[in-house]
Amino acid sequence: MPAITMKDRLAEARGKPAEEAKFYWSGGPIEVAPRTYFQSLFSGVTGFDTDDGIVLVDSGVERLGATLNTLLRQKTAAPIHTAIFTQGHLDHAYGLKHFLSPGQAAPRVVAHRAMPARFARYALTQGYNAAINARQFGGTAEWAEAKPETFRDFGQPAIPPDTLYDERIDLTVGGVRFEVHHCRGETDDHTWVFCPDRSVLCPGDLFIWAVPNAGNPQKVQRYPWDWARGLRLMAAKEPETMCPGHGAPVVRDPALVRRMLLETADFLDVIVARTIAVLNKGAPPHVDIVHAVALPRSDSPWLQPVYDDTEFIVRSIVRFYGGWWNGRPSELKPAPRDALAREIAALAGGVDRLLARALELLQKGEIRLACHLADSALEAAPDQEEVRESVAAIYELRAALEPSLMGQNLCHSAAAYARKGRPFV
Ligand SMILES: [Zn+2]
Repeated sequence: MPAITMKDRLAEARGKPAEEAKFYWSGGPIEVAPRTYFQSLFSGVTGFDTDDGIVLVDSGVERLGATLNTLLRQKTAAPIHTAIFTQGHLDHAYGLKHFLSPGQAAPRVVAHRAMPARFARYALTQGYNAAINARQFGGTAEWAEAKPETFRDFGQPAIPPDTLYDERIDLTVGGVRFEVHHCRGETDDHTWVFCPDRSVLCPGDLFIWAVPNAGNPQKVQRYPWDWARGLRLMAAKEPETMCPGHGAPVVRDPALVRRMLLETADFLDVIVARTIAVLNKGAPPHVDIVHAVALPRSDSPWLQPVYDDTEFIVRSIVRFYGGWWNGRPSELKPAPRDALAREIAALAGGVDRLLARALELLQKGEIRLACHLADSALEAAPDQEEVRESVAAIYELRAALEPSLMGQNLCHSAAAYARKGRPFV
């Protein structure tokens, strides 16, 4: 089964009602408030037209910026006066140049003070980021090397921020007021924007029509406790309209906006509280914590694990409060994976026995256990064609069972590596 790409998801979501399409909704321009236009192609862009020009919140992925600009230009030809980047991620801070008219000087660009350090980190760790991004979208490190333009996190964008703030900055453009607030969430440089004169909230990726991306397994630290606090502050502004970082806008429905923000805050707070409670019971190994924390579930369409997985958020909290060691004594200074795997295979009576047992466990629905044995089989005998194919099949099956895009694609990725006889190297 081929990996499901973001493009497939976008195509699937096109034309569906917002409630159903959730995270993947694309559309616009929609006039969400007077002279305020929202459009989204994977990520959302909001243009606030004022008498002195447009205040643009976010700018999309670099290669989608031109189309997003075409959408906005159906509504207004005004020049960009100020841009605000809600985060330094690829899908928010890199499309701005496409919104400028030919020859226009760079507008003011507002962002949190931590953003330049993020761009420096991307430049420093390009090869690493390309590989983990490829895995996140179902591919291998080799795949990333073949398509650097897709998977590399670039350094500084063409038009970088020139106005950095710490906790809050208030702007007035053309007589329209904007509150720009910092809130650590998916990133340490995250911003949310509230325009009181139009009662429009732009939460960035602090709201994305999905379980918050607060636990991404391969990325740097996220901050679910600050995130929840930020969502409550946003709700206290009583916005009528919300233009999220991903997914459809909620237009002139203050009760729904409030419910979405507060439910998401509660969801995060519960995970944080339950994880800390388990941590405080004597620092158990990480795997035990994951199994001890009862995960909250919701029927609300905006709290489904379509992108990140709720279980991953627990891991993110454990990492913040703890060290890198997972608490398993043997893994403090572990043996090489292949050496351990060969011992396990020998004890089992050979790699074939190990694989056979993995398949039996799969039949019983014990997919987590099956994958542990599959890893050992591949690590013990990466050159055996049958092992490669069987392990790849197990991970493809697991991909089909995972709820989140991240879980699905990391399993597709594990299958792709297995087929090459490369146990995630
Ligand atoms: Zn985003």
